[in-house]
Amino acid sequence: MKALSLLGSTGSIGENVLAVVRQFPGQFRIVGLSAGRNVDLLAKQVLEFKPECVSVGDPALVETLSQLLPPAYRSRIVSGLEGNCLVASLPSANMVVSAVVGAVGLLPALAAIRAGKDLGLANKETLVMAGRLIMEAVHEYGVRLLPIDSEHSAIFQALEAGRREDVARIILTASGGPFRTWTSDALAAATSDQALAHPNWTMGRKISIDSATLMNKGLEVIEARWLFDVSPDQIEVVVHPQSIVHSLVEYQDGSVVAQLGIPDMRIPIAYALSYPERLELGLSRLSLAQCGGLTFEQPDHQRFPALQMAYDALAMGGVKPAALNAANEVAVEAFLAGRIGFTQIAEIVGAVLTKTTQADELDLQAILAADQEARTLAEREIGLA
Ligand code: NDP
Repeated sequence: MKALSLLGSTGSIGENVLAVVRQFPGQFRIVGLSAGRNVDLLAKQVLEFKPECVSVGDPALVETLSQLLPPAYRSRIVSGLEGNCLVASLPSANMVVSAVVGAVGLLPALAAIRAGKDLGLANKETLVMAGRLIMEAVHEYGVRLLPIDSEHSAIFQALEAGRREDVARIILTASGGPFRTWTSDALAAATSDQALAHPNWTMGRKISIDSATLMNKGLEVIEARWLFDVSPDQIEVVVHPQSIVHSLVEYQDGSVVAQLGIPDMRIPIAYALSYPERLELGLSRLSLAQCGGLTFEQPDHQRFPALQMAYDALAMGGVKPAALNAANEVAVEAFLAGRIGFTQIAEIVGAVLTKTTQADELDLQAILAADQEARTLAEREIGLA
């Protein structure tokens, strides 16, 4: 039986991970849970899955959580970054699933790897910020990094069809988000409710906004660059509004291998949890005839400049992808709070990307410093906006 520690258990991915665990009680058990602020849901999860250790992001909520749990749990509650890292490195866990949102995922992911745990990674920000460091640690500690992002899971599966040295290109599909057909003028007036209404997936708020700006695809380009050790010019993005073809790998003989499926995150989650075994999830089967047409188009870089910014950050290298990520997190939050308009998200990220200082040496300290600097600069830009 695989023992799992789950970070971000109360979120969209976290709940789907628990749905898979619930469905296969003979295969998985939960030894650690962590969440941010939703202590009511976290307490319910603790009562159901009975982990050894539970962490809440906000230390001020430890007392509230402990009041929702039997007294025996008091000594098992930890909090904050330290709590996340503890849950990520529990001796009894074989695998850690990181489903937290944002830069807060980086240090717990590193803690998991250094503790010798296999890592199921939904938190793409980890690889965006520190892809090189994370992949070096994965090799040094001999652990497995299993992608949960549906596109990266698709590539991971398509790569099983050939040899790495024969890969020509990786083709990431993007739904195009809720604003795919909107004009620039309409985009400028888009509200957060409109941006949160993704046509194909139900996801957390931050990734939903990232999907609407196409920054999500940009972050995924950076994620793919590190995860699969390919150069940025080998990664192409194609818009595929139906979200049925989850991504593709082109081999040098011209063969293109794709992974298809209904848009349901339990499929890539279960694959990461049980790899290389495939679980019978009981989901509805893909009917191509019912899908009708599958269509593909080029992304529009004019209306959605964030995608190109991610390629630019990769080309600049060093700490720039971490700066891009941090500026985006701040700008998305400001948009959700009604402080800036939709198109200002990319404007702010672009401004911060050019203004942040490049580091001489790429280490964890430099990455965390760039993250901080970018957040300060983004706040300044928002103030001016
Ligand atoms: P959600 O916003 O739904 O969930 C985020 C989770 O992170 C919540 O459990 C939240 O806790 C937790 N969290 C936030 N801050 C902290 C903290 N300081 N310590 C511990 N936990 C914290 O996001 P999603 O599930 O949508 O996305 C999670 C990650 O997976 C993101 O990186 C996203 O890009 C990626 N992803 C998501 C997909 C999806 O379909 N949703 C698809 C592919 C990738 P709480 O709510 O209790 O505050």
